[in-house]
Amino acid sequence: MTSEPIKAGGKVEPLRKTRPCPECGKPSAREHYPFCSDRCRTLDLSRWLKGSYAIPVADDEAKADGTDDRE
Ligand SMILES: [Zn+2]
Repeated sequence: MTSEPIKAGGKVEPLRKTRPCPECGKPSAREHYPFCSDRCRTLDLSRWLKGSYAIPVADDEAKADGTDDRE
């Protein structure tokens, strides 16, 4: 156990600990740091290109209005 106090600064630790992929949360890979794969990297990049985090259009999963189980 280390008894060294944590210095309150804005220093970022070098590439030591594996950070979770900002896309899926999996451990990042060195080749695609800080992402886990090129896929997640592209995903994040595409979001940037779009200008904002757009919500993917989900299929019409909304159930019909009260036509499911009505009594
Ligand atoms: Zn990922």
